[in-house]
Amino acid sequence: QAKQDGRNCFGYFSADMNNNMLARITLEQSLRSAVLQHEFCLHYQPIVDTSSGEGLALEALLRWRHPQKGLVPPDEFIPIAEETGLIEPIGEWVIQQALRDLSDWHRQGMMINMAINVSSRQLSHGDPTQFACMLNGLLQKFDVAPQYVHIEITESILMADTELSLKALTAIRHLGVEIYLDDFGTGYSSLSYLKQFPISVIKIDKSFVDNMLEDRADANLIKAIINMGQSLDMRLVAEGVETEPQRSFLQGLGCDFVQGYLISKPLPSNELAPLLRRIVKVKPATLT
Ligand code: C2E
Ligand code: MG
Ligand code: MG
Ligand code: MG
Repeated sequence: QAKQDGRNCFGYFSADMNNNMLARITLEQSLRSAVLQHEFCLHYQPIVDTSSGEGLALEALLRWRHPQKGLVPPDEFIPIAEETGLIEPIGEWVIQQALRDLSDWHRQGMMINMAINVSSRQLSHGDPTQFACMLNGLLQKFDVAPQYVHIEITESILMADTELSLKALTAIRHLGVEIYLDDFGTGYSSLSYLKQFPISVIKIDKSFVDNMLEDRADANLIKAIINMGQSLDMRLVAEGVETEPQRSFLQGLGCDFVQGYLISKPLPSNELAPLLRRIVKVKPATLT
């Protein structure tokens, strides 16, 4: 509408629309300064073996400590960061911080893996190896072995530009870094697509887990996803597991790993020690 009335555009905007745009522009500006002012931080949430509780990885989840608004959740700013391209510097900061923390834990003998979320915009360049090069540089800088780092992507990347995505993901996989497919079931990747990509782990979206004990259709979808993952030699994580009955149901279905408030909420690094002691087997060689 605004486009059609473009010539007089200011006069035709409703007050609501004006406010919306203003809010967006303000958000974009404060997001820009947030990068420079170091207002971001990471919280970490464990992904654990469904049966033993042993840790598979910690997922790094971005938080924005806004000077006025307090802690802003990622769903409220990542979409705008993606549209404006700010996700690139922000995403690089995320990788740096996650690797810095990971190398600290490794030095303490806690050999956990780190799962890092990456937006499709970070991977879709003219040069599909650019992201892998950047990642490789940071792995070296923080002296982290690549097999401890896992990248979470969503189905949207697979749909966007298959050939470029395949190259970008293959370059990442060639470093020795594993790839997870996040929020699975909410997009529309087909089986034939999935098979082509170097994916190690499928994360079943929380929306299926939420109702699986009450809703037979959701339970059946979860079963189907697990069977599919197993046929493709991929491991499975269920997201958003909040109760013990959910965990044991998933265990019965053969879902390898779970993540959710039942195990732990995402925590800042300085509150993580007791959790790490619970889920990480310390390698004997590193004990002194
Ligand atoms: P995601 O990658 O699917 O992350 C899981 C989300 O579910 C997280 O929300 C987590 O806090 C939440 N969650 C985990 N377990 C439970 C549970 O048992 N119950 C409930 N109600 N929620 C649970 P969060 O941290 O708000 O992140 C939202 C989304 O923002 C993420 O979804 C991811 O898509 C995106 N995101 C977060 N950090 C980054 C980042 O560094 N880069 C990019 N590109 N995206 C990020
Ligand atoms: Mg994720
Ligand atoms: Mg997810
Ligand atoms: Mg999700």
